[in-house]
Amino acid sequence: MRLNVIAPSTFAALRVIMLAVGAVPAQRMRGMLMASGITPVASFVTLGEVEVYLSNGPVDVIVCQICPESDAGLMLLSVLNRMHKNGKLEQLPSLFWMGETSMIAATCPGDVNYGSRLPATVQTAGIECMGGVAMTALDSLARLAKAAGIHVEILHREGAMVLNDALRAALLIRTKLDSGPAQADFELLTEEELISALTTGEGLRFVFQPQFDLLSRRVVGAEALIRWKHHRLGDIPPSIMIPLVNRLGLDLLLFSLVEMWAVRVMLALKRENFGIPIAVNASAKTLCTPKFAERLAARMHGVGLPARLLKLELTEDVPEPDELLLSAALTAIRAKGFQVSLDDFGVGAATMNLLVNVSFDEMKIDGSFVRALGECSSSGKVISGLVNWARLLKFNLVAEGIEDESTIPLLYRLGCRVGQGYALAHPMEFDDFMMFMRKQK
Ligand code: C2E
Ligand code: MG
Ligand code: MG
Repeated sequence: MRLNVIAPSTFAALRVIMLAVGAVPAQRMRGMLMASGITPVASFVTLGEVEVYLSNGPVDVIVCQICPESDAGLMLLSVLNRMHKNGKLEQLPSLFWMGETSMIAATCPGDVNYGSRLPATVQTAGIECMGGVAMTALDSLARLAKAAGIHVEILHREGAMVLNDALRAALLIRTKLDSGPAQADFELLTEEELISALTTGEGLRFVFQPQFDLLSRRVVGAEALIRWKHHRLGDIPPSIMIPLVNRLGLDLLLFSLVEMWAVRVMLALKRENFGIPIAVNASAKTLCTPKFAERLAARMHGVGLPARLLKLELTEDVPEPDELLLSAALTAIRAKGFQVSLDDFGVGAATMNLLVNVSFDEMKIDGSFVRALGECSSSGKVISGLVNWARLLKFNLVAEGIEDESTIPLLYRLGCRVGQGYALAHPMEFDDFMMFMRKQK
């Protein structure tokens, strides 16, 4: 495994600080770090002290104590998030949670009088905790943090191996940050450059990531994803480009490019008798544009393509406050024969409400649930709940972000039939994608 190629001696390059409330736990943390070749650069007791330290320079890892006496280790997440959003933190440090682990007896919520009358199965069942917090709650919090860009490692067990694995992961994150252009560099992008790229198409291209039937491994669809190579700054990730497009109100300009590429690939697939749909991303604002469905249907009709071959993935980056408008727009799009998918389910803001009130053909389970599947039992429960929900509401499910081959049979067993992710295929250039499809035949 790639992580193991980093020798522990390299950890000395990491800037590590500690947050612990007592002298004894702080001593233990320091001892463990020293055994891995790290001398922590500072140690703090309160969140305020950490905040001041972070505003003065970059830190790679914060080792925090999770304990019943203080919630600082948990609340640190929101401090980091706030500082990052306010531009006071250039680099988000990784967070390591450490603490006493224990099993506490499960109690029946709402009934304090059970006492010894608890059924034997419940009496013996226990909840695994760290510092008094249920491990499942820590897992969920870590997943949410990840969605906000904060890497959290929960050190379930003490020991050099566990700590070293976490440090290797933190080191890889730092290496990635060091090698890519800094966030600040992207701020040099100008409005004119983006408009020019979107109008001329210069530097822009689309890649295609296949979606697979998880049992037969047949390709059942593909998602079109934009790529922008800037002449000065190199590759601009969609996570930088798309918010900029939205902020400048250029989403329709982007969609006209998406549409052009989608038509191009759909025609190429049709020529070679592949009947799979192509999915494109679009915000609620784009989909709510007056006459959107009519115009798109006319475009597809004009080139002789059936509407069912185009799928629109609703992203939640620009939420539509007028739910009635969104519902009407999506209904009009589906009435024209296009498929509508709800992207990134589980991390968006209003997804639950949307799913109940708006009809979709498909829902994509966010990769954060899929990647946590092997590690935490609550992810499995969430996914199997979604599978039941999908059956009831009659929409298809796609699992996103499958990075690990071993999660494929797990997903299938939970009832998820279609998936997308690096373990199956990376996004590919147009020609490579067509070649890939031919090989599949
Ligand atoms: P998305 O629609 O959820 O697309 C999936 C993202 O996950 C893509 O990132 C893809 O490259 C990445 N991915 C695929 N497999 C894996 C995996 O196994 N592990 C992990 N960690 N990631 C995986 P990408 O291309 O960077 O796009 C990010 C987001 O930008 C997209 O998320 C979508 O919301 C937005 N986006 C991309 N292209 C377009 C576009 O043409 N128009 C609009 N409006 N949004 C776009
Ligand atoms: Mg998508
Ligand atoms: Mg997605």
